[in-house]
Amino acid sequence: MVAKESTVKNKMVAKESTVKNKMVAKESTVKNKKKVVIIGAGIAGLAAGYYFSQNPEYEVFVVERQDYVGGLARGFDYKGFHFDFGPHKIYTILQGILEEMDKVTPLLKVKKKNRIYLRNNYFEFPLKMSQIMTKMPVIAARAMLDIAGKLISRRPDDSYENYLTNRFGRTLYNLSFKGYAEKVWNTEAGNLDRELAIRRVAVSNIFQLIKGAVFGDSSKFSAQFFHYPPHGMKQIAEDLVKNIEKNGGQVLLETEISEINVTDKKINYVKIKKVKLKPDYVISTIYLDYLLGIVKDNGSEYSRAREATLNLTYRPVSIIYIILNKERAMEDCWVFFPEKEFLFQRVSEQKAFSKLTCPPGKTGLMVETTKEPTKENIDLIFKQLEEAGILKSRKEIQEYIVKTGPRVYPVYLRGFLEPLNAVLNYCDSIKGLYTIGRPGRFNYNNTDHSWDMALRTYEHIISGENPENWNKLKERFDSYRIVD
Ligand SMILES: Cc1cc2nc3c(=O)[nH]c(=O)nc-3n(C[C@H](O)[C@H](O)[C@H](O)COP(=O)(O)OP(=O)(O)OC[C@H]3O[C@@H](n4cnc5c(N)ncnc54)[C@H](O)[C@@H]3O)c2cc1C
Repeated sequence: MVAKESTVKNKMVAKESTVKNKMVAKESTVKNKKKVVIIGAGIAGLAAGYYFSQNPEYEVFVVERQDYVGGLARGFDYKGFHFDFGPHKIYTILQGILEEMDKVTPLLKVKKKNRIYLRNNYFEFPLKMSQIMTKMPVIAARAMLDIAGKLISRRPDDSYENYLTNRFGRTLYNLSFKGYAEKVWNTEAGNLDRELAIRRVAVSNIFQLIKGAVFGDSSKFSAQFFHYPPHGMKQIAEDLVKNIEKNGGQVLLETEISEINVTDKKINYVKIKKVKLKPDYVISTIYLDYLLGIVKDNGSEYSRAREATLNLTYRPVSIIYIILNKERAMEDCWVFFPEKEFLFQRVSEQKAFSKLTCPPGKTGLMVETTKEPTKENIDLIFKQLEEAGILKSRKEIQEYIVKTGPRVYPVYLRGFLEPLNAVLNYCDSIKGLYTIGRPGRFNYNNTDHSWDMALRTYEHIISGENPENWNKLKERFDSYRIVD
């Protein structure tokens, strides 16, 4: 026992001194540079590191607690496969962001095919009224009647449920939005905030659904193509690291900041292992409760903000990776399963994103579930995949593995904006502290948005940090929409 402890201790000391040596050596050569400490090596943190490291006025340290980079957009290699942590397509309506990503990692352009499985039928996604009329005429008639009713009486837009029933009617809401949300967020959809509908449902109402179908005007809510790194999503994070290091920045893995010391709204120092560093900027991309957990500040605003983080919770997701001995399993890149009876919400095929991610003659499915990945649940999931025709038979499965992310989906409960704003306003009040990214803003967003936040924050800092500009940027961050 003693021997074990001392080995661990020695390892830690060795690690600490390596970090210290690296940082001290670096400090002495670059005394006049402004120091930027970035917490988290997901897309937001690495993109921020990438921009700052290109600017000779800044010295960059990216600090990551895990032994890998990429955060939610990570991946892993397994027996010749490069799997994503859940399927990651790149599609953006933010001007210039795709080009920025493509400069770092040349991306493939992939034709998108995805569908939604409802009432034992596959439909194109987003749903088109014409398909509903053909395959589910009774539902289509009810949907039309609902909408006529909604023109006369609407409920206040005060929840996910009311916001969507006001725009799509009860029938379409029950068919495609309710079960999905209740599965993913594990609560009655009526408890969810309208903000979830605004950010997640790109089609704004039934009329847009009809118009989109008829006129093909759907680029803002459904992509025809998406982009993807040839060797899997983790390639982007790895390429960002290469760029940061080439530019002289540092990415420190398995490293955490133990303290951000604040007095009178100013950062005195940050403690990385036992090294104290006085940064000009701290850019945090980590969960807000983690961030406020390492801030040391005696102010009363801080205590209130820290308490408010207790209201910002997350849902986990597990991905079941199924390996099959065949070239392809589905004709789609991914299929949504909104109905509650299905224990999973989406199935995708890694090979549909890039052939180079799977060995020839083999393919890999990724099944996303928020249920506990118990043997019983996994057995039922396999049975349901057979029922939906995705697996011909369970015997096809060569092997499967499961990976779980404990904090993936921010839970937008009704009223969540109040505690969130209390936390974000506190962070904003600290000079030189910026919190960005999906966990950093409790923002239900995609990689293009995290990248955009990093770029805009970098531009904001180098152009003099005008507070009005930051307010505009915050509005921009809140206006991101996920396009499937
Ligand atoms: C299943 C799934 C499917 C998705 N599909 C898509 C898609 O198709 N397209 C798309 O664009 N996006 C998709 N996304 C969203 C995308 O992954 C995220 O928006 C994006 O990766 C968020 O990046 P981020 O840097 O903001 O946050 P994160 O990736 O969460 O990065 C935060 C980093 O901080 C690190 N960290 C945490 N605490 C500490 C600490 N105390 N000290 C140091 N480091 C710490 C974490 O380890 C992590 O690396 C998907 C996400 C999931 C989970």
